[in-house]
Amino acid sequence: MSVRVRFAPSPTGALHIGGVRTALYNYLFARQQGGTFILRIEDTDQTRYVPGAEQYIIDTLKWVGLLPDEGVGFGGDKGPYRQSDRKEIYQRYAHELVQRGHAYYAFDSAETLEKRREAEENFTYNHLTRQALDNSLSLSSEETDKRLKAGEPFVIRLKVMPGRPIHINDLIRGEVVFQSSELDDKVLLKADGMPTYHLANIVDDHLMEITHVIRGEEWLPSTAHHVLLYEGFGWTDTMPRFSHLPLILKPVGNGKLSKRDGAKFGMPVFPLEWNGATPEESFSGFRDTGFLPEAVINFLALLGWHPGGEQEIFSIDELVQAFSVDHISKGGARFDYEKAKWFNQKYIQAADNAVLASYIGPLAAAKGYNPSEDYLQQVAALMKERVTFLPDFVETGYYLFEPVREYDRETFQKKWTPAVADFFAELIKMVATFDHFNAAALEEAVKHFMQEKGFKPGDVLPLLRIALAGTMKGPAVFDMAVALGREETVRRLEALTRL
Ligand code: GLU
Repeated sequence: MSVRVRFAPSPTGALHIGGVRTALYNYLFARQQGGTFILRIEDTDQTRYVPGAEQYIIDTLKWVGLLPDEGVGFGGDKGPYRQSDRKEIYQRYAHELVQRGHAYYAFDSAETLEKRREAEENFTYNHLTRQALDNSLSLSSEETDKRLKAGEPFVIRLKVMPGRPIHINDLIRGEVVFQSSELDDKVLLKADGMPTYHLANIVDDHLMEITHVIRGEEWLPSTAHHVLLYEGFGWTDTMPRFSHLPLILKPVGNGKLSKRDGAKFGMPVFPLEWNGATPEESFSGFRDTGFLPEAVINFLALLGWHPGGEQEIFSIDELVQAFSVDHISKGGARFDYEKAKWFNQKYIQAADNAVLASYIGPLAAAKGYNPSEDYLQQVAALMKERVTFLPDFVETGYYLFEPVREYDRETFQKKWTPAVADFFAELIKMVATFDHFNAAALEEAVKHFMQEKGFKPGDVLPLLRIALAGTMKGPAVFDMAVALGREETVRRLEALTRL
């Protein structure tokens, strides 16, 4: 049977970066096994639905290049893939489970249950309490029918039989055992006719022929109920294999990474920018921070998985080759933002100048610069070893687009002597009439000229650098001069003499 996996996020807000890791592991597994990667939108909880969140999920998958084979916005013949479009299906299956004796109708109002919860701290709707509550197990079948016919609101609950262990063979965690006596009778179908997560998730995994469920650790406890649902429906033969991924932990301290940690640690914890209703609900993302999607993928891939060995840089194809569920760790994975930055530097350094230019272009335009494509590629080449984020090309490297705003005055004052000033006057004349304006020729000529006048490179080159970039940290001097062009180089050398 061919592998089919799904990424099943709920559109309740911006998709957390951990969700992207879940999507990635599903994707890698599917690609490696020659299987199918599906995007299912789990939007049955109307109270938590956030407009724009579904589009955000799709935009994220497109940005990082994890394109589903089937799913909302991607086609496929096992749809619809949005749960709110499948309401009737769940209703049918919920009633079927009642017929099969594994679920029941419950008429207790929300207020009644609320009161019980207030009165009894540990009140749970389960095998111990259900006989004394208002449901089709405690009522006669005539009474139940009467209420249903009269249109009395009801929910459908899973009938959990006590006294047995439930074994889950998790591919990451090994055997995990839950005791049925400790489980509550989960609501499967709500009074508004919408399914809960548990019912919709299992019905869909079955109908969409999912073979492997790879999801966050927080869903492990629910899996006990899911196994009971598979049993109740008689679907155990095709029950998927489960893999529960380790938590993503805060960069420092205890606990799992939360959306608030972004502001706290000054780093993105979402893939894309998200504009919520309030500033507190708005977040920056890896994309607008200036990460390359390939770097984010590489970083996320190693957040809880490593094939062993020293290699850290993996292309997506290498990840597909090397990925295996066996090498996913059980323990939490620390979200090391410094490492994410390191990956981004590496990917920027390795990127094609034309590719970088395509990112730098819009950033430059947003600053009001209007460089040519060729110039953008030169900027890419000059700066790629010196940046961490894409906007650094136009921010740190602003002097490649406009005159120097700020000079390293300390170094300038140390180096600028009357003799050097005289030399500069002559150098400017030389450069202004220099015909072969390429880096090697220019370097050769300037160095020759320096020697002739008895200067060492250390006397002059720092000043040239400061003239062109304002800082000692700029790119190679002669390459920069060539990119800026002869006239601009002369203009900047002159500006320095007026400091
Ligand atoms: N809708 C669930 C979520 O938001 C899906 C969990 C699962 O994959 O079963 O994470």
